[in-house]
Amino acid sequence: MLADPPVVSSAGHTGGKAPAAAAGAAAMAADDEPLYAARPKIYPQKVSGTFRRIKWAVLLVTLGIYYLLPFVRWDRGEGAPSQAVLVDFPGRRFYFFFIEIWPQEVYYLTGLLIIAAMALFLMNAVAGRVWCGYLCPQTVWTDLFFAVERFFEGDRRARMQRDDAPWTTDKLLRKAGKHAVWLLIAWWTGGAWVLYFADAPTLVKDLATFQAPFIAYASIGVLTFTTYTLAGHMREQVCVYMCPWPRIQAALTDEYALNVTYRRDRGEPRASVKKSAVLRDKGLPAGDCVDCNQCVAVCPTGVDIRDGASLGCIQCGLCIDACDTVMAKIGRPERLIAYDTEVNIRRRAEGLAPILQLIRVRTLLYVGIIAIAGGIMLYTLVNRATLGISVLHDRNPIFVQMADGSVRNGYTVRILNKQPQAQEMTLALEGLPGAALEIVGITSAEAQRHVVEVGRDQTRELRVLVTLKDRPPASTNDIAFVVTASGGGETARTADHFRGP
Ligand code: SF4
Ligand code: SF4
Repeated sequence: MLADPPVVSSAGHTGGKAPAAAAGAAAMAADDEPLYAARPKIYPQKVSGTFRRIKWAVLLVTLGIYYLLPFVRWDRGEGAPSQAVLVDFPGRRFYFFFIEIWPQEVYYLTGLLIIAAMALFLMNAVAGRVWCGYLCPQTVWTDLFFAVERFFEGDRRARMQRDDAPWTTDKLLRKAGKHAVWLLIAWWTGGAWVLYFADAPTLVKDLATFQAPFIAYASIGVLTFTTYTLAGHMREQVCVYMCPWPRIQAALTDEYALNVTYRRDRGEPRASVKKSAVLRDKGLPAGDCVDCNQCVAVCPTGVDIRDGASLGCIQCGLCIDACDTVMAKIGRPERLIAYDTEVNIRRRAEGLAPILQLIRVRTLLYVGIIAIAGGIMLYTLVNRATLGISVLHDRNPIFVQMADGSVRNGYTVRILNKQPQAQEMTLALEGLPGAALEIVGITSAEAQRHVVEVGRDQTRELRVLVTLKDRPPASTNDIAFVVTASGGGETARTADHFRGP
């Protein structure tokens, strides 16, 4: 079961001995406690180690993709957009490398959302909030903003001292430099986002010369503000109070999921290095935790992992790096804090070897759903029709009786050509022998063969008349319009009716 976010001192900084003291004080003064407590600022300390390196690598890859992807080109032939990933609202298309999605194929988005949700559930079943700790945009940008803050204002202690000290020119310049770079990153984040909605090099030029549409500037403004506020100022509050995922994740997790865990069995009873050595010399029990609080000092959300699982813990693993450094210094084995499962905590207490059970009902279920949704999407993508037809029967009048006794129905026919080149299409009618088909407004040569040309990647709308002369039709006759690409290529058909008196 997960505990609430940690209680931290409202008077000062988190980390150090403050949380424990605050917890005691809070218990004594529970009755007087105000309903609103000001947020204590968190000053995460710099740390190095395996998980920090993984986080830097993930940050570089994810931000690199985000900022550079709009500039990647993809040749789709003349007249087609050459941007690899593009949401083309005016052209009503979404391009993703070789995939081109039309508005009527938006169900692919549903498939993608199902796969994304199941991938998140799978990550959770295997390694808890690994998404939060490494991949979530809030974590990635906050990490980057922390690095900028450290560059201008120094590490934890220097920042805490500077914040407590009166304003000086040095303090002003450092803070101004930090906020300027934060705003620059936030602005470029918004700028990169709008590049996914238009040709990136052209839009960059238009933005620089103030010729871009207003919506582009407005979007950049909104995203600059949100990035600066969420990653620079709100930081861990987004994860602890605003994001619904920790609550959902807590309900979905199980005892086999790997979570960052303090190995209480090894760490307790905790004592200082000196006291532990004395206890060991006397043959008394002494845990490996030397109560140095380094794990708390490096935590970006101010959590003390030794208090147990917490909604505030984003599972970033930085406390593992901090504790491993301490263990190396005092000559004790690494991984006093480690990715561990509740099952293994129990097994170790019983003297059993730890196990890693990745294949479980829930992981199989998630993998199965991902495979099915992915398979369906892949199959439909590979076998998708590049030709389409839709028909709308005239509603008023439904039919017209001509002076010579013949009956005529009118239709609006739409032909889709998803091929990367223009195609000649032949329109034919089935199910009504003796009926004449007329396409209004095309050349007589085309009219004889009922042939029309549809441009590449376009829809052509036709006005079509069907007339039955020699015999009176039934009140409703089942018919079908069939369109065939030139040279006996792909065929598409759609059913409709021919109405009579
Ligand atoms: S870093 Fe390790 S030794 Fe230090 S307080 Fe945390 S758990 Fe204990
Ligand atoms: S407790 Fe450890 S894993 Fe959890 S957020 Fe803090 S540093 Fe990251």
